[in-house]
Amino acid sequence: MDLLKQRIQTDGLIINNSLLKVDSFLNQQIDPELMMKIGEEFVRRFKDEKITKILTIESSGIAVSVMTGLILKVPVIFARKHKPKVTGDEVYTAKVYSYTKGESNTIMISKQFLQPEDNVLIIDDFLANGEAAAGLANIVEQANAKLAGIGIVIEKSFQPGAQKLTAAGYRVESLARIKAFSNGQVEFM
Ligand code: 5GP
Repeated sequence: MDLLKQRIQTDGLIINNSLLKVDSFLNQQIDPELMMKIGEEFVRRFKDEKITKILTIESSGIAVSVMTGLILKVPVIFARKHKPKVTGDEVYTAKVYSYTKGESNTIMISKQFLQPEDNVLIIDDFLANGEAAAGLANIVEQANAKLAGIGIVIEKSFQPGAQKLTAAGYRVESLARIKAFSNGQVEFM
């Protein structure tokens, strides 16, 4: 997706040669017009699937998921990283190691939001080692729902996540695929 790639080139900041900071349009300040265009692209790529729910993880996957859900007219569920007091015990959980924070979280969603009839599209902002997406896929499996695929805004293809998820049989659609960070520049696939 050229618009996204251009934005990464102009606004992205490379940290420690492994992390991309895109706080100005995705991770802190959010560009709603770009989020909508990303949503449209996910809808285009998954148009042959009858998606019934979108599943993401708090917090940076939410904006783009809501845009996608708005176009598809389907609910958006986000997995929580901490158990809120008001959530009952009827939850699906999965353990996820956070690449950026260097710690494990138990992510969860209430069982009432996923049914065996659902055809779920997982969406997340970044794909690195595939932990977050695999945890979400595991939750879809626990609910006996169908997983239509995984939509990623920015894939760091030099890390093993995409390969791992594809090898596990999941369809992965990434809108910007980064081959490498070299000399402070982003190199796309
Ligand atoms: P994974 O679970 O695939 O190892 O990592 C994906 C998760 O870690 C995403 O949900 C995202 O929040 C975070 N993440 C991984 N790499 C980056 C990065 O380069 N930049 C930012 N901003 N977040 C990242």
